[in-house]
Amino acid sequence: MEYKAHETGWNPWHGCTRISSGCKHCYVYRQDEMYGAAVSSQCRRTSSYDLPIRRRRDGSWKIPSGSVVYTCFTSDFLLEDADPWRQECWNMIRRRSDCFFIFFTKRIDRLAGCLPGDWGEGYDNVMIGCTVENQDRADFRLPIFRALPIKHRAVIAAPLLGPLDIAQYLEGEIEEVSVGGESGAEARWCDFGWVLDIRRQCVEKEVPFCFHQTGAHFIKDGRQYNIPRDHQKSQARKAGIDFRMTENGIPETAGYDALEKNLQINLHDL
Ligand code: SF4
Repeated sequence: MEYKAHETGWNPWHGCTRISSGCKHCYVYRQDEMYGAAVSSQCRRTSSYDLPIRRRRDGSWKIPSGSVVYTCFTSDFLLEDADPWRQECWNMIRRRSDCFFIFFTKRIDRLAGCLPGDWGEGYDNVMIGCTVENQDRADFRLPIFRALPIKHRAVIAAPLLGPLDIAQYLEGEIEEVSVGGESGAEARWCDFGWVLDIRRQCVEKEVPFCFHQTGAHFIKDGRQYNIPRDHQKSQARKAGIDFRMTENGIPETAGYDALEKNLQINLHDL
């Protein structure tokens, strides 16, 4: 993942277990295989575990104030294996209220049991993205997601594996719906018609919508296309179908830009 100015990644642990069909070609496994790393299903704490509270020699934070911190993108923040470590992470997130933390999860049903004692209605500096890949997982996860106290929410429909009817879940405070196909040689097909239909639902509910990448195998108007990795984001952008997104890739409704002017949130790189 590449980060822009003010963006950084924090992976306190690495490795994950597959939980639903969206995990079939998980990029964590693919990357680990590519680099011959240890078994991806064995979650382990990383050497960056305490990165948010590390300082440089001059005493300044290693992660500068105002940063957007993409959290736990080589695992799932709510993974069971990480239960003993998570509270310390919440402490760090609370301490760094000058930064904005974003994590995506396929385990939203675990969130209520994983929240810190002072969570209340949610931390101002945390966005949680609920990932759904098909109708079955949307119907399971999104009602749970909507009922939870969270200050900033996104729905991540990726890898999109079929048509989705999520209109009923878009009422309320969803700051963005971000849609993408699957990458990798064995990627499953993503149909542009599914993407457009989700966009229609977002437009009807006035929810910001972003088409962040096509995936490797893409169908448009009944024709099949193989899209090289380097072009998957640019091809999605070329479709020009984002709705209520600024040029910086920030949803118009986002409340988190109050943290710092010019703060750039970019879910497209994920
Ligand atoms: S939850 Fe995410 S990180 Fe974990 S196996 Fe599934 S796709 Fe991979």
